[in-house]
Amino acid sequence: MEQLGLLDEIMEIAKPISCVNLRKHNMSVVGKLDCTFAKDRYGFYSYIVQRTEFCQILISKMRHGRILWGRYVLDVVSGDAGVQVRCANGHIEQASVLVGADGAHSAVRQNLYRNLNEKAFLPKSDMEELKFTQNAIIGLTNSLNPSQYQGVSDEFGECDIVIGKDSPYTLWISPTSGDKVNWSVTGPLLTNNAGDENFMVSQFGQEEAERTCLLIKDLKIPFGGTLADLIKNTSRECITKILVEEKHYKTWHYGRTVLIGEACHKFVSFSGQGAEQAIMDAICLTNLFHELEAPYTHSDIRLAFEAYQEERMPATKAAVQSSGQVANMINSQGWSADLKRRLVFNLPTWIQAASVDKTQVRPLLNFLPAIRDRGTRSLKSMKLGEDERGHRSTRSLSIKS
Ligand SMILES: Cc1cc2nc3c(=O)[nH]c(=O)nc-3n(C[C@H](O)[C@H](O)[C@H](O)COP(=O)(O)OP(=O)(O)OC[C@H]3O[C@@H](n4cnc5c(N)ncnc54)[C@H](O)[C@@H]3O)c2cc1C
Repeated sequence: MEQLGLLDEIMEIAKPISCVNLRKHNMSVVGKLDCTFAKDRYGFYSYIVQRTEFCQILISKMRHGRILWGRYVLDVVSGDAGVQVRCANGHIEQASVLVGADGAHSAVRQNLYRNLNEKAFLPKSDMEELKFTQNAIIGLTNSLNPSQYQGVSDEFGECDIVIGKDSPYTLWISPTSGDKVNWSVTGPLLTNNAGDENFMVSQFGQEEAERTCLLIKDLKIPFGGTLADLIKNTSRECITKILVEEKHYKTWHYGRTVLIGEACHKFVSFSGQGAEQAIMDAICLTNLFHELEAPYTHSDIRLAFEAYQEERMPATKAAVQSSGQVANMINSQGWSADLKRRLVFNLPTWIQAASVDKTQVRPLLNFLPAIRDRGTRSLKSMKLGEDERGHRSTRSLSIKS
């Protein structure tokens, strides 16, 4: 973000987090993960940023006319010279390459896979549905009154995870900028729908969200009172019920089409990986594209796509697995799950830091001036190899050691 000149604006909407509290249903704290060590070690605190505000900043920096709004992709036709998409509004758009960044239920992926399946090129596992793990309902409150909701306007926020005792629900509360609070509840019994209908969409309508609110409104919250108070302070359009799903696809590209983000790797939410990994995909692919020269031959594009998948596949696969493990640890019920959570949330900070160190990466856009590392950990630039044309590697990630 700093390379793109966006850091200051993003810091204005970012809320630093000091810790994550693990609470019992009666709100007593049974463990706490300190987050403040990140500042010295990696140069920044951990922050929560609202997605819509983040997207607004990105969009405001795009040159006028670069984004074509209202183009909902239905079909993709790929040829030797280029790729075409047909959109719901009847428009046909043409380009040298198509990057499918259209989320977990990607239309680009579905088109690509249909084509590959007809040619018998698609691995069987890629045809299988996303793995459903549970339901979740999420909400973002309006600005709250700090005299009623203690701590919401503090410079540093504390996140809370409240584990149900006799209920299967786990409640998450995270403060965000503008004295607002993100709340969410995960659990297997949140749906009133029956059968496979649930698996058709990843997001439900407003009516379903309202029915779900009735199921969870009596959960106690760390501010005192119940979740009903936060629901009352949340506009209906800011409440969403979603399916929590995961899947790591094996096929990321074919012809002139490539997939990034949740189109090719879907993480369970709340582990803080999805957006991060999607951004890293974009950085990797952008670096590789920057090396390409006109006339953008099919074979050059294929080499770039292959290099992208080779570089990003191991990290995203590991992230899908670790996200699943974290979600399982947080959401499981029973005494052994309780014990595991207590152990993890009471680890000494140096052990926590050592494990976070392993996941820290500092990817850079190779064609922009590098930025200063603000952390105390020394930077090691990891060269991941050269492409087959012998060009200088576009795949160097700076990894904190
Ligand atoms: C409750 C919750 C909390 C989360 N918290 C975190 C977190 O703390 N940290 C983190 O890193 N990640 C988090 N995530 C995950 C993160 O939001 C996603 O991983 C990330 O948004 C994925 O980015 P994406 O660009 O791949 O897909 P998306 O963000 O889903 O974007 C896809 C875009 O494509 C558009 N689109 C879809 N279909 C079409 C079509 N046919 N034609 C044209 N456009 C189309 C959509 O409108 C959308 O704008 C969270 C997710 C949830 C649900």
